[in-house]
Amino acid sequence: MSERDATHDPALRSWVESAQAPGCDFPIQNLPFGRVRRGDQPWRIGVAIGDQALDLRLAAERGRWSGALRALLHPLAAGDLNAFMALGAQARRSLRAALSHALADRSAQALLAPCLLPQSQLEFDVPCTIGDYTDFYVGIHHAAAVGRLFRPDAPLLPNYKWVPIGYHGRASTILPSGRPFVRPHGQVRPAGADAPLLQPTARLDYELEMGIVIGVGNPPGQPIALAQAEDHVFGLALFNDWSARDVQAWEYQPLGPFLAKNFASTVSPWVVTLDALAPFRRAFSRSPDDPQPLPYLQGADNAARGAFDVQLEVWLQTAAMRDAGLPAHCLSRSNFADAAYWTVAQLVAHHTVGGCALRPGDLFGSGTLSGPAPEQAGSLLELTHGGSRPITLPTGEQRRFVEDGDTVTLRGFCQRPGAVRIGFGACSATVLPAAPQR
Ligand code: MN
Repeated sequence: MSERDATHDPALRSWVESAQAPGCDFPIQNLPFGRVRRGDQPWRIGVAIGDQALDLRLAAERGRWSGALRALLHPLAAGDLNAFMALGAQARRSLRAALSHALADRSAQALLAPCLLPQSQLEFDVPCTIGDYTDFYVGIHHAAAVGRLFRPDAPLLPNYKWVPIGYHGRASTILPSGRPFVRPHGQVRPAGADAPLLQPTARLDYELEMGIVIGVGNPPGQPIALAQAEDHVFGLALFNDWSARDVQAWEYQPLGPFLAKNFASTVSPWVVTLDALAPFRRAFSRSPDDPQPLPYLQGADNAARGAFDVQLEVWLQTAAMRDAGLPAHCLSRSNFADAAYWTVAQLVAHHTVGGCALRPGDLFGSGTLSGPAPEQAGSLLELTHGGSRPITLPTGEQRRFVEDGDTVTLRGFCQRPGAVRIGFGACSATVLPAAPQR
């Protein structure tokens, strides 16, 4: 597991002055990775610092780096974050230390300042090439609340507290933050109807999730033990697993989610490394009333600090709010560590225990991270009790589910005494009206 080191020193300051701005998501203690482009230039791997991104291709050319660091920068300069992630945790830490030093060292400013790109001028892609995508269901408060809506007699199925529940999704429709998408059509069965219809979803929802980016894979047939699991994780991002609840309700049995979940998922531009998150770890524990995990999902490090203390927010801006110049409205707040029944390491260990191979760039969704209180729900399905109790926005508009023109933005940050606050930036997308049916 990543330990605190000089890169987390709260006294550390960057010559990029905006990195010190109050509330900035990207102080020098963060240094997340993303894939960025300015104008018609080629895509580059960037590291966020303040309101800028350090272009690693330019930085590799201009900086004074040792031979070992040049080797680490090589795949990044070529725009291949996956190849860098595959080098492993030690390589990531070495580069982090060097970037931290260079961005703090005033004598490097003249060389590296020309490598900065203003984030406001950038287009973002998904941060890496995502091979396979798995969505888990670790939010126990979400699972219980949704279970009550779908199966009042058995909200939490008996396997929930034993198995980290998940399904294999599709990577092809994971979209970068900022990319709008069209309301999907799907097969739904209206209440009381004999037969389903194909129509635009009337119950479009968001899901507040964390994305877990795999850095180092494993060969088929060779499970990753819990104690090594985090060595295979590059970092975390924000993830909105858009869902069509009417389609889901009709199709989900017996094999689970399908078209209700495969039309769009939005990932944040920046991957915050596990190293940056080192000061924000929390213990993982189970209530004595619950079953303890099976031995392959138990470990001392996991118990001592397997959880991540990430504060999460969902913001909604309707088209009317945007037109009136009104800011987005916060729908709910939650916390990864409070919401998750399983840790990141447990997900990796469980995913591979039967021999499944992970590869660099695979993405796990955590599942919807609703907090224990009803107002901490990470989806509209929960906030509006299945659409039966609409919420009223400051404009007087009501929402049961997401409407055309709505922009949903996820935000996340880590804050605790003795550490500098770091953030995840925004994970945002706007819903466009359904296409005419063909
Ligand atoms: Mn989901």
